[in-house]
Amino acid sequence: MLFAHDTECALVSVAALVNTAGDDREGLPDVAALDAFFTAHGWSGRHEHTDAELRQVRALRPRLHRIWYADTDEVVAIVNTLLRESHALPQLVRHDDEPYHLHAVPRDAPLATRMAVEAAMAMADLVRMGELSRLRHCDHPDCDNVLVDLSRNRSRRFCDAGCGNRAAVSAYRARRAAASHS
Ligand SMILES: [Zn+2]
Ligand SMILES: [Zn+2]
Repeated sequence: MLFAHDTECALVSVAALVNTAGDDREGLPDVAALDAFFTAHGWSGRHEHTDAELRQVRALRPRLHRIWYADTDEVVAIVNTLLRESHALPQLVRHDDEPYHLHAVPRDAPLATRMAVEAAMAMADLVRMGELSRLRHCDHPDCDNVLVDLSRNRSRRFCDAGCGNRAAVSAYRARRAAASHS
């Protein structure tokens, strides 16, 4: 494990949230989609199931996406702004059979606020450890998803959307085509 468990979970969740804002498709089209995201990424605490909450979560995405393109100083500015405007106050807590981990806003704070703060805390860890280069983009030419490379040897190339398989299939077809022409 490179980072604390809660940090790694948060990083995976941030990348997934950013990737719901595709250029050509909305990954969070309605409240039901946000419910599914909430469950899939192990969120707990306040969850309103309202359009207002959905709008707040969607509005957070471009701010988090920016981190993938930012240099260290700009990441720091984004992280500090997110923490400041959420009035973050880190506290060690334990709930739902999880070991002690940090929450920096109460569990009854709005979902988008908690998502912002959890993302900011995880990015703060990357900055402190000099590991911002782990924030990368999927190598597949047709994909603009972001990813977080948590592999020990920094070998991750593709996002979770099946691009690794797609690339393998393309490479296989290319080899077959090359073989049949020779
Ligand atoms: Zn927690
Ligand atoms: Zn991809």
